[in-house]
Order: sequence, then C-alpha cells, then structure tokens
Amino acid sequence: MQTSESLFNRAKQHIPGGVNSPVRAFKAVGGTPPFISKADGPYIFDADNKRYIDYVQSWGPMVLGHNNPKIRQAVIDAAQNGLSFGAPTEIEVIIAELVSELVPSMQMLRMVNSGTEATMSAIRLARGYTNRDKILKFEGCYHGHADSLLVKAGSGALTLGVPSSPGVPANVAEHTLTMEYNNLESVAQAFAQYPEDIACIIVEPVAGNMNCIPPVDGFLQGLRDICDQYGALLILDEVMTGFRVALGGAQQKYQVEPDLTCLGKVIGGGMPVGAFGGKKEIMQHMAPLGPVYQAGTLSGNPVAMAAGLASLNQIKKPGLYEQLSQTTQTLAEGFKSLADKHGIPMSVNYAGSMFGLFFTDVERVTNYQQAINCNTEQFNMFYHGMLDNGVYLAPASYEAGFVSAAHTDEVIQETLKIADKVLAEVAL
Ligand code: PLP
Repeated sequence: MQTSESLFNRAKQHIPGGVNSPVRAFKAVGGTPPFISKADGPYIFDADNKRYIDYVQSWGPMVLGHNNPKIRQAVIDAAQNGLSFGAPTEIEVIIAELVSELVPSMQMLRMVNSGTEATMSAIRLARGYTNRDKILKFEGCYHGHADSLLVKAGSGALTLGVPSSPGVPANVAEHTLTMEYNNLESVAQAFAQYPEDIACIIVEPVAGNMNCIPPVDGFLQGLRDICDQYGALLILDEVMTGFRVALGGAQQKYQVEPDLTCLGKVIGGGMPVGAFGGKKEIMQHMAPLGPVYQAGTLSGNPVAMAAGLASLNQIKKPGLYEQLSQTTQTLAEGFKSLADKHGIPMSVNYAGSMFGLFFTDVERVTNYQQAINCNTEQFNMFYHGMLDNGVYLAPASYEAGFVSAAHTDEVIQETLKIADKVLAEVAL
C-alpha cells in the first residue's frame, strides 16, 4: 500500500477527497484506497502490484471480467478510425438494433454517456409526455446524481449521510415522492393523494445501492398496475441490472413490462455509455421528432459503441447467465455457511450475478431500514480482513457485489477460504 498511500496524499491536493467519485475514498470503511494500475479477468492489481480478486467489477460493467480480449481489440480497431465525429455512424444503428432485440420493450432508444444522463433524460421525457411534474422513487434507490433523483438516494449518498444533497433546490426536491421499497401500500397511498400529478415511478428492479435487495413477489407487477390505473409511466432503472441479472435484464427475469428503461454499465463494456428507451409512442416525443430536448456531444461515440457492441455480442452467447447465477449462488451461500460456522449473524441476498451480505439477524432483508440497521463494525472488520488477504469488495456496506464470467470455481473457492479465515477473526 506504500505507493497507493503516497498517490492518495498527492491526489488530495488537487482532487476533492482525492477521488473522482466519492465512494472510492473509503470513507465508510476507513483506510487508504488501493490505487489500481491494471486489471485482468477476475483480478485487479494495485500500484504496488498486489493482486486482488475483484467483486466490484468497476461497479458493474465488467460482466465478462476485466480486460476482455475482444472488447480490447474492438476499441483498438475503432480508435484507428478516429475518436469522435459528432455525426451519425453505422455502429450506432447496429447497437440500437441489438439492444432492441435483447430488451424488446426498448422499441426505440437513445445513447448517452452515463447512467445519470439516462435516468435524468427518462424523467424529463416522462414529465414531458404526461405533462405532470411529480415523480415517485424509493428510499435507498440510487438513480445517479441529477437533482430530482438525489432525494433519499442510496450508495455513496447514503454513506455520506447526505440523503438530499445541499445544492438541490427545495422546490425541485418537493416534486420527488419517496416511498418504501417493496411496499406497494405506500405507493398506492401516494397515488391516492396525487392521482393526476405523478408522471412516473422510477425503480431499481433489484435494488443495488442499499446493498442488494431483490423485489418481493408481486412488487414490480404491482407498480405496473398502479401506473396503468393512474396514467403514469413505469421507468425501470436497469443501469445496474441490465445485462447483469439476465440477458434481457430484470424485466425479463421478473416478467414486467416497463414504459421506459434506463441502461448503463454493461452496455458500454467499460466505456462511458448509458442509454434510455422504451415504447415508440413515448420515445417519439424526443427531439428532433418531438418537443422534449436532450443531446450530447459525445453520445454514441464510436469507440464507446465498439466496446459496448463487443460486450453485448459476447454476453448473448447461450449459457452465460446460467453460469453467472450458479457462480453467484455458490459464493453467496458459501459466505452464509461460513458466517453460520463462526456464529456471526448474516443474511445474504442475490439475483443473477449481483449479491449482498448483511451482518444482521434479520432473516431476509427487503428494505432500506433493515439494510441500514446492519452491524457496520463487523462489516468493516470483515472488509479490511478480506482486503488485506487479497479480496476487493465494495468499500461500503450499502453496495451490491458483482460476479463476472471470469470468476471460475477456483477463484470462488479461494475467496471462500479467505472468508473462512477472516470471519474467524471477526468472531473473536
Ligand atoms: N442508476 C443506477 C441503478 C445505478 O446503480 C447508477 C450508478 O451506480 C446510476 C443510475 C448512475 O450511473 P452513472 O454512475 O453511470 O452515472
């Protein structure tokens, strides 16, 4: 950690907190974040060349593992033709066709540069389409850092204890209603109170920013039904779950049909890409066809599209998602039995290749309040024990973990062996 430490000290001179995204600073767990110099398959390597088994996977995009040879080659090939044109290209057409095929509810879509842009634009479209101002989200769900969505958000915002950030005007935040995740009753009450004012519900179909919380049976379909009843749009924020919990995303896994979908992470194969899309009739309200404005100098960037396309072309191969789910189950259940063995109360959740460990005696964690009531002291001990022994988990207890196709059974067994040793120490 010597080099990381000196880099961190240097970084803090010119970058707020030394990082370009808050959770990377390790504030929740303390200590110095390893500065990463390279990554390959299931591993990342820090500036001192220490190897870690990585369950962060760049926060989700690297579903095929790091430094995938086909994605790397696609980027090199595309870069040889120029980095950006600001004009339409064939690859944008190809990737739009492919995304529509894999996620059929996205009859039309637009590329953007991040998940934040995708959700922000989808919200604007929902408001423009319905002529309504209010939106409904869930406590602990994070949809990027656009003003109207940074209200009782999860992830880094939870860690910092700033559920609504200063700088978000009160008269913007007042249009955001926040309900309890997995609680349909609270949603029904909100619609009963504002039957004609709510433009949309936006939801993470598997919450991944308050650790990992899958939807309870009937929750997503219940949201669909309420939206239909009141003429509001259902937006599934699949920035994390898209091409992650199933090839067709959570909407395929849980069989729910959204009006709009937001994508990010995997769709860029590691490059800065997001997308939003949905029913043609709604998407036709976007400029230049319709009045709702949205644009981007680098949107649909040819190098980023090449990485995304190379990623999607590989994940559509049969069997990949079954393998990912199996690996994730082995890992999550493995953690759970080791915790039981050492007498540490733990609950695990997983969906597809997302997983979450909760240091709690609650049998099944289904909402934000339960997620924040976990034993953070035990988590932090566990976290640092794993890190010292070469396993890189997300540096906060409010983050989901990710497994990639490069995590072989051998890698999982090595992780569990380390966890056995670390949990024994936590139990002392
Ligand atoms: N939506 C969800 C569900 C996310 O998990 C994230 C980021 O983690 C975002 C939106 C924002 O995406 P980005 O960080 O690319 O802006």
